[in-house]
Amino acid sequence: MKRRTFVMSTMLAPVALAGYGTEAATAKRPTAGEGSASQPADESCDFRVITLGTGAPPPEIERFGPSALVEVAGQYLLFDVGRGALQRLTQLGIPASDINRVFITHLHSDHTVGLPDLYLTGMLSGPFGGRKEPFRITGVEGTKEMMDYMKLAYSADSKIRIKDGELQPEWTEIETMEFTEDGVVYEKAGVKVTAFENFHGEAIKPSFGCRIDYD
Ligand SMILES: [Zn+2]
Repeated sequence: MKRRTFVMSTMLAPVALAGYGTEAATAKRPTAGEGSASQPADESCDFRVITLGTGAPPPEIERFGPSALVEVAGQYLLFDVGRGALQRLTQLGIPASDINRVFITHLHSDHTVGLPDLYLTGMLSGPFGGRKEPFRITGVEGTKEMMDYMKLAYSADSKIRIKDGELQPEWTEIETMEFTEDGVVYEKAGVKVTAFENFHGEAIKPSFGCRIDYD
């Protein structure tokens, strides 16, 4: 089978190498046979990259924060979770429970402010959420500390909802995997994510890009 590869680096300027489709989550996702003139649906593509947001810290209504969804071989991998990422996923009709793994490339706030929403709202019942397992995230060094404090910061909400019967305790758990050097950080069913250190500024360390391969 022909290998498909996608490379993404810090500023969410994806570089396509081979065999993938792209679209922007600025309109309702075309269904099969529907499409649009500017963004035709390609349902035959098994490697799709959707930019949920390409913004920066300013809270622009037309351009949400940095976040890229890679749909490959039936898996949904989410790279960075900027402002509005869950809204864009919902706009696409993709519930948070469908996300197999979240990746964090660096700890600039515009790349992570959507995380509490994805984590918390994603485990509520409804077409937008429905996660019934721990929140799984892979990121640069510091991600675990951030996620541990995030869980703690929202523990009152979790306790209330567990007591109310809305949530099971295990859904509130967070499984964090950190990486500190170049190498493979995810591998499942022919899909491989390889992290590589990049330069995003002298003080912005760690900072990594990701290459996604599918054989
Ligand atoms: Zn940054």
